This record gives sequence, C-alpha cells and structure tokens, in this order.
Amino acid sequence: MTQTTTPSGYVKNIWDSVKSTLVGMRITGKYLLQKPITVQYPDERLPIPDRYRGIHYLEQEKCIECLACARACPIDCIEMEAVRHGKELEWISFTLDYQKCMFCELCVYPCPKDCIHMGTEYAFVTFDRSEFKHDLLSFKGMDRAARERMKEAEAKKAAKAAGGASEASKSEESAS
Ligand code: SF4
Ligand code: SF4
Repeated sequence: MTQTTTPSGYVKNIWDSVKSTLVGMRITGKYLLQKPITVQYPDERLPIPDRYRGIHYLEQEKCIECLACARACPIDCIEMEAVRHGKELEWISFTLDYQKCMFCELCVYPCPKDCIHMGTEYAFVTFDRSEFKHDLLSFKGMDRAARERMKEAEAKKAAKAAGGASEASKSEESAS
C-alpha cells in the first residue's frame, strides 16, 4: 500500500529540513568566529612544560663516565664507552635505547655532575628500528679544552721529570 503525502505534510517536511539546516549552521557559525585551538603540527607546536620527560640530552663536557645513570636504569637502556687519558676522556659512544626506555627519569637523579637531563623534544620517528638506539654525544673523541689540559699536564710531567734528572746528575757530579 502506498502512502500519499498531504499538502500540509509536504510543507512540514520542508520546514523540518530548513529548521535542521539553520540549527546546524548556528553551531557552525558559533565556532567560525572563535580562535582555532588546533596547531599546524609539525610546522607549529604547542608549548611543552619544563618538567616534561622527553628525549634526553647530555652535557658531555661535564660527564665523568661514572656509569651511575646506566646502573640506575631499571631496563639497561644506557651504554657508554670512552678511553681515559688521566683525568680526561676520549668519547666513543653514549647510547640510549629508545626501544626500551620508559621515560621514568630514574637515570637523572643519581648523576653526580647533573649532566644528563630529560628534554622537551618528543618527536622521534624513523623507518629503521636500529635508529632508536640514539647516541647522546655531541662530539666524539676529546674536546679542545680537554686536549689542552692533557697537553699541559703532560708538559708539566715532562718538566718535572727533566728537573729530577738534572738534580740527580748534579748530585752525582758533586759526589765524584
Ligand atoms: S628514563 Fe628510565 S628507562 Fe629511560 S634511560 Fe632513564 S632510567 Fe632508563
Ligand atoms: S651519571 Fe652523569 S656523570 Fe655519570 S656517566 Fe651518567 S651522565 Fe655521566
């Protein structure tokens, strides 16, 4: 059985359509005049709080390779390698494995030099999982200041040794 629309029902349908369109446009219009709350990431970024626990950064010049941060890490994310030249360090690597890291910050507190920190950077995207093992070093080898300090120490040591040798030869001469 087919239903026929009466003239009054037809007008009511038109009115309902117009009414629902007006209600929708009223809501759209309300938001049209408001300041947008979205940002065009990655060109724009929202401010990150200072206490945010993002990708670590290392103040390499202050680090003494004491391993306290690596020992404190509950899941062994941190590995480091350096060669010691007296008090100076020649850096080979200082890696943090972000496949395992849970950003707990436990590595930061035991550092005696306050040189490892959680940063505010959070975007770390790669197609290769091996790249999640991230080297925190800002330079490899020794920095210039350390190299100069080492040269000075070696020169002092050589001068002291030479002074000691000349003293010994003088005392030998006076004895003969
Ligand atoms: S944040 Fe936590 S899991 Fe990540 S390296 Fe530090 S101690 Fe390890
Ligand atoms: S605890 Fe600090 S000083 Fe020691 S190895 Fe880690 S970052 Fe370097």
